[in-house]
Amino acid sequence: EISIRNVSKTFIDAKNTEVKALQNINLEIKAGELITIIGPSGCGKSTLLRLVSGLENPNGGELYIDGERITGPHFTRGFAFQNPTLFPWKDVWHNVATGLEARGILKEHAADVDEYIELVGLTPFKNAFPHQLSGGMAQRVALARALVNHPKALLLDEPLGALDALTRMSMQDEILRIWNERKMTLLFVTHDIDEAIYLGDRVVIMSANPGQFQRIIAIDIPKPRRRNDDIFFRYKK
Ligand code: ATP
Ligand code: MG
Repeated sequence: EISIRNVSKTFIDAKNTEVKALQNINLEIKAGELITIIGPSGCGKSTLLRLVSGLENPNGGELYIDGERITGPHFTRGFAFQNPTLFPWKDVWHNVATGLEARGILKEHAADVDEYIELVGLTPFKNAFPHQLSGGMAQRVALARALVNHPKALLLDEPLGALDALTRMSMQDEILRIWNERKMTLLFVTHDIDEAIYLGDRVVIMSANPGQFQRIIAIDIPKPRRRNDDIFFRYKK
């Protein structure tokens, strides 16, 4: 359960002027819900996810996960951001293992690292270094790194943006499978409306150019999820 209450975020840009990235945002997300977020470039989607991750603090308002105030980054939240920042000196395996290592539980979970690398289809690259990967591969490493910690809340910022169509479709279904299995709360930012509708229990639409209150609406998406299997099937051939 994630509560976003009246949250605002202002940045000071290089010219020393204020950039209002978020204005009085309210959003209540139930435990286990899959929320997709769409909105024009610059409307504050990434900022919102960074605030929920605890990597940045709001200027106003409060954020809670399961009733607990967010005070900083925490392993109960896994995140994979828009431009995946992998450690250039670590190979794929050790990049995925980062969180487990930091918590001192890598030894007993080493098999999980292999499992998630396999899940994102990178087993042949597990000893490769970031500079040897394509953009889509780097995204999949970031995804595996977020998932291996089994977080209560998973925050994904355009995690599939750089993938080819077929890999993207299978990763969407992998994410759904993991989400179903783990019952985690999932916030997923995308620019693809079809992806937002296919994945989301609710689609949140954020408006640009915040005034005093930024408009944000949520639409319930009827389920079951369906995709045009014919396209998927033909693409595979
Ligand atoms: P996109 O769809 O292009 O990823 P977004 O909705 O994720 O866009 P954000 O990255 O959250 O948008 O940015 C929201 C606003 O805040 C933009 O005007 C951006 O320029 C500004 N901004 C974000 N981060 C910073 C920062 N660190 N310093 C200054 N301004 C920032
Ligand atoms: Mg963004």
